[in-house]
Amino acid sequence: MEFRRPKPISDRQKDVIAKTAQYSAHHYDSLPVVMHAGKGSKLYDLDGNEYIDMLAGYSVVNFGHGNSRLNEVMLRQMGKGTIFSNVAYNRTYAEFCEELVSFTCIAGRALIMNSGAEAVEKAIKLARKWGYVRKGVERDRAEIIVTNSNFHGRTMGVLSASPVAKYRMGFGPFLPGFVQVPFGSTEHLKEAITLNTVAFLVEPVQGEGGFMFPPAGYFQEVVKLCQANDVLLILDEIPTAFGRTGYNFPHEADGIVPDVLILGKALGGGLVPVSAVVAKEEVISVLGPGHDGSTFGGNPLACAVGSAVLDLIQDNNWAEEASEKGEYFLKKLEELGMTVRGRGLFIGVELTSAYDAHRVCVELLAEGIFTINARRNVVRFTPPFVVSLEEIDYTVEAFRRVLRIT
Ligand SMILES: *Cc1c(COP(=O)(O)O)cnc(C)c1O
Repeated sequence: MEFRRPKPISDRQKDVIAKTAQYSAHHYDSLPVVMHAGKGSKLYDLDGNEYIDMLAGYSVVNFGHGNSRLNEVMLRQMGKGTIFSNVAYNRTYAEFCEELVSFTCIAGRALIMNSGAEAVEKAIKLARKWGYVRKGVERDRAEIIVTNSNFHGRTMGVLSASPVAKYRMGFGPFLPGFVQVPFGSTEHLKEAITLNTVAFLVEPVQGEGGFMFPPAGYFQEVVKLCQANDVLLILDEIPTAFGRTGYNFPHEADGIVPDVLILGKALGGGLVPVSAVVAKEEVISVLGPGHDGSTFGGNPLACAVGSAVLDLIQDNNWAEEASEKGEYFLKKLEELGMTVRGRGLFIGVELTSAYDAHRVCVELLAEGIFTINARRNVVRFTPPFVVSLEEIDYTVEAFRRVLRIT
């Protein structure tokens, strides 16, 4: 493969970094590079240096940068109009909801939002209301069980359920009503369920939590426990749906169907923020006029792109592509002798304490590989599905050099 390592960072890039430091909140520990363009599985910095994108915007750009089919749909909708207000009906919205609900196989309806965290907030609202209206939980007593290694976003409600001190420090007081249990343990889940438990909110596969996969059979047990105790199963599949793990939805691997499904990230194809909560009829029917709303949620531009993403997924077998390339990638990474966890193109490599994962990512950048760590000891590899086997080979070799494995 023709591939040149990027040149050291130029003054032009340094100027942008300085301007960011001067005018933007300092809420990221960014890599020292100014990205400027993307095409397929490649990113280009301000000086035209090329990088293999092993992050895909945190599993957002699954179908490649600059996907022409998605771009065309977006431009066409922009020509027609983008926002007509939520107090009028809209065909693009209705069709997107229909397509999304059918695709998920959940016998229910959808609530369309913008960001992932926002959709999680709405799932929390739905579960609480369902608890009071349908389950008969005493007012203001609803409890939601989450895992102690979860990541569901950064809003106040979601932070209230977060186990990560750095995310929470200085932002209290938090929303009450969350109980944490270890991911993968049905014993602890069983003990945590009370008469006030309305839902178990969980990621089928954890990314930010360090690329963690539960033991086989876990989710079948979870479903049994939830059903036996009249507790909703809410799956956060924001980064993992739409082919990422080799399935359209990761819960397909477990042969289960959740009561509430939270989607986001790739649903907007990397063009616009689109998120959704798809819930069974008996859950979503607790919402009536005035119980929720969003100025931008479900706007025609977002819905047109969302529909185009669903069409794209149904026309190409992306899940299979991610599955095959992922298997190849996993095997290559395993040859390095590290702890590798992955399914499809959702892969994390756990480094020994001899390494600092963020530092490793800075060194990978100098090799022309763009990715970031998850927690302190995991390097993630979640490229767009259009990544080539040669790019995977190059990435593994660069990783080997950076880790100084001979
Ligand atoms: C990214 C992510 C979110 C939050 O999505 P935003 O669009 O950043 O708000 C929630 N849950 C999981 C599992 C995620 O990976």
